[in-house]
This record gives sequence, structure tokens and C-alpha cells, in this order.
Amino acid sequence: MFNSRLLGTNSLWPLGKIVCVGRNYAEHAAELNNPVPEQPLLFIKPATSAVAMQAPVRLPTNVGDVHYETEIALLIGQTLSKVKPAKALAGVVGVGLALDLTLRDLQSELKKLGHPWERAKAWDGACPLSDFVDVAAVNDWQALELSLKINGIEKQRGQAKQMLTPIAELLSHISQTFTLLAGDVVITGTPAGVGKLAVGDQLELALTGLLQVETRVI
Ligand code: ZN
Repeated sequence: MFNSRLLGTNSLWPLGKIVCVGRNYAEHAAELNNPVPEQPLLFIKPATSAVAMQAPVRLPTNVGDVHYETEIALLIGQTLSKVKPAKALAGVVGVGLALDLTLRDLQSELKKLGHPWERAKAWDGACPLSDFVDVAAVNDWQALELSLKINGIEKQRGQAKQMLTPIAELLSHISQTFTLLAGDVVITGTPAGVGKLAVGDQLELALTGLLQVETRVI
């Protein structure tokens, strides 16, 4: 079972579910030739998909391209059910980073067939998660910024203010359908620049000013 760590505390947060948002940045939707959805596109990864980000990322074999998607992750600290946006952020205790690893070739096949995406998105190891920084360190939610470098070259950079559905509205929207419980994690979509991982890649991920994580692909 995966436990999230909230930095600066001794508390461990047993992971429940990971609620994920697709196409929350317009430029990423465009790069995969996907239309921008009218409402947030939601899916769930099970707790069994989570692994520690700083541990090497183990690529599954014989499954086609494995894409990275760097995302801002939110650690939920209290039950959120059918909350208004104005109340939603109070339910978040930590911010961190996630890699929404995606079997892109398989996902394309599943999309064509009209099948669910779980086989491409929810496999064991499909969600490397970082430790979480206390939300007290967040002065401006819209200013949160993530970045990813692979082998020293910047591949992704995105700010929360570019999200089609901002974080408070997103949590409110999710909570209308899925009750969020303490220990659940919400990952908020990826900016443009997704691509394929290869064995030996060195990854440097950052939440600007708050968190840095290095990992590698094996
Ligand atoms: Zn994603």
C-alpha cells in the first residue's frame, strides 16, 4: 500500500484513489489532436498504480510507447463532497508532483474502440508521486508552476493559471461525482510537451520554489 508523505510532518497518508483530469491545458489537448472538453474529463487511477517518484521509474516492456505527463498533484486532507469552489481548497493539505504515465499506443487503440483507458493509465507503477509540501507554503494557487527536464533538456513547463479548469473549480467539480477522502490525490492535467520515455533517461521535476525531484528510467 502506498503512503504519501507530507514534508515537515511525521504523518503518513494512506493513499485511497487518484482522481485524474485529462486535457486541462489547451496546448496539450492540441498536441494530441484532441478537442478541448466542455467539462473536465475525469478518470481514476487505483492506489496500486502509485509508486515513489524518487525511486527509479521502471518502464513496462512490449507495450509500445510509454509517455510521461508531468502534473501538479494535490493531497486531500479531509472529506470533500459536493463542495463549492470557495470551500474546496480548504480540503487540500499538500501539493506535489505526479507523473501520469500513459501507454500511448494502447490508449490510442482504446480510444478508437471507444473502450475505457484503464489498461493504458491505471497499471501498477503508472503513477509516480512525489512527497507533498504543506499548503501553507502556497501563497497563490494560480502561480503554481511545474517543469520537467529530461537529460538536461526542458520538456514541459506549465502554470496553474493556464489550466482550463482552475484548481478550486476542479476540486468542486470532482466532488460532485466522487467524494474525495483524506489521503486521496488529485492530479490536475499536463501541459504541452508530453513524449516518450526511454531506459536511461534522467528526469528532473520541479514545482517552482517548492519542490525538486530527480529520478531515472530503468
Ligand atoms: Zn494526465
